[in-house]
Amino acid sequence: MTLRKPDSHLNNSCAFFNTDAICLKTLEGKNNSIVIFLFTKEFGPLVVFSKISLKKKSNTLSNLDIGQEISVTLNKKNDSYYLKECSLKTCFNYSDYSALILSGFVLEISSNLPEEIAIKFDVFYNLLLKTLGAISEKKAPFNHVINFQIKLLEFTGNSGDVLFCSKCQNKIPENENSYAENNYWNFFCKDCYNGSNNTLILNNEERVILSQWMNSETSSNISDIHLAKPIVIKIQKYLFQVYADMFTLKTLPQLAQLLNEKLK
Ligand SMILES: [Zn+2]
Repeated sequence: MTLRKPDSHLNNSCAFFNTDAICLKTLEGKNNSIVIFLFTKEFGPLVVFSKISLKKKSNTLSNLDIGQEISVTLNKKNDSYYLKECSLKTCFNYSDYSALILSGFVLEISSNLPEEIAIKFDVFYNLLLKTLGAISEKKAPFNHVINFQIKLLEFTGNSGDVLFCSKCQNKIPENENSYAENNYWNFFCKDCYNGSNNTLILNNEERVILSQWMNSETSSNISDIHLAKPIVIKIQKYLFQVYADMFTLKTLPQLAQLLNEKLK
């Protein structure tokens, strides 16, 4: 796995470069400065500074909306990055309540990725873009948000085939349940399952649907394969606990509550 950082090819003390990015968060600081949290396609997460107040949005900064895909020109000076140009590349629409909550949840996770998650930046970037696109277009957004969380667990290596027991490697018998526990997306048969507070239990019918769904790479399959609401709710409930433990996000319980209300 190659993780390329801007520093690895920008050795000059002052250099300009272009990249596509998704704006995750902005903070207004002292002296009309703005701190912008980007996830860039080539270099992953970057914290970028700009000097103009958002209140007096210039043309450059008018494109700087959270959750949008932008093309940026950045200036690297010593160890800091400064925003020089910014244009809108893909405009997403989060105009309703549900879209705002879902995109807020996905962006919150994206801006708090733990260091130990080894991700290929472009792979994560495309996943984030696809998820935000589905939320914006209202194409099975809950499916895509769950897919986003499972894929992220795959990047950490905490995932396995839903049809097989991760411990004894046997195919889980059709008349038995399978169990995921301890913050992994690995499943166990009833003999190998330890029993923990946060457990996801799937019957055969549910794991067959989930298996088809997880093995389909295209966005339309994720939208088209129907996950019944009770499955969505129990998967999301399990994943929230996983993410609450993994990311220690203070806002996650609040987001979980909002999301659960929308799921009902
Ligand atoms: Zn087993």
